[in-house]
Amino acid sequence: MIKLINVSKEYKNGVKALSNIDLNIKKGEFVYLVGSSGAGKSTLVKLLLKEEEPTEGQIYLNQMDITKVRNRKVPYIRRNIGVVFQDFRLLPNKTVYENIAFAMEIVGVPSKEIRRKVPSILSLVDLSRKSSSFPDQLSGGEQQRVAIARAIANNPPILLADEPTGNLDPDTAWEIMKLLSDINGGGTTILMATHAREIVNTMRKRVIAIQEGVIVRDEEKGGYGDEI
Ligand code: ADP
Ligand code: ADP
Repeated sequence: MIKLINVSKEYKNGVKALSNIDLNIKKGEFVYLVGSSGAGKSTLVKLLLKEEEPTEGQIYLNQMDITKVRNRKVPYIRRNIGVVFQDFRLLPNKTVYENIAFAMEIVGVPSKEIRRKVPSILSLVDLSRKSSSFPDQLSGGEQQRVAIARAIANNPPILLADEPTGNLDPDTAWEIMKLLSDINGGGTTILMATHAREIVNTMRKRVIAIQEGVIVRDEEKGGYGDEI
């Protein structure tokens, strides 16, 4: 589902953020990406979203080599990969309902389908009663649930989560993990960059550790590790 072959990324200033990364994540896997600040996690996330281009190598998402996709076709990639960030990134002037509906409108989902689907996604993330609220009227955990709802609205096979619990208190973080775990249970492949040691050590999923742009560990049912 996600495959990197010999991927390197050097920024224009000469910083080598990733070196010769080989990685294969299969459909339905849940993978934690760990590593200290500056290790290269965000660079990897940006490459998968085609916000940055690799200096070398191939990147496949759902069989498609995204390094060969023209920039104007990037929306096709975004249909394959939903994304959630630490700081939620909701549209502040739209309600919860509208935030989700908008994500569907921009990829051309018919309005009848949107009206049918938004309530069912809201119910999945347990936010039906907040449908008309604006983001600043919600708690952090609720905002993240809206962000997750938006990310999965178009049924992408892959969900990328960049420190999704980073701004949340521990109980709320666990709620979010439960939700991500349920989404993964439905078949969605999840790659989650995180510093949440306790979550990684409790959930025991595949762990990929990067250090100075290199994969230093890749373990099934792994732990957060001591190198970070
Ligand atoms: P992480 O997400 O693990 O903290 P990053 O991918 O953000 O790591 O950074 C990896 C390395 O690349 C760091 O040395 C960082 O300073 C550098 N870096 C990140 N973004 C840029 C950029 N746009 N231009 C130059 N260097 C960058
Ligand atoms: P947390 O404990 O995560 O910080 P809050 O205290 O921010 O949560 O929010 C608790 C509840 O109050 C949530 O259900 C949230 O939706 C609601 N709430 C918070 N701020 C507002 C607001 N300005 N308007 C309406 N509801 C609010």
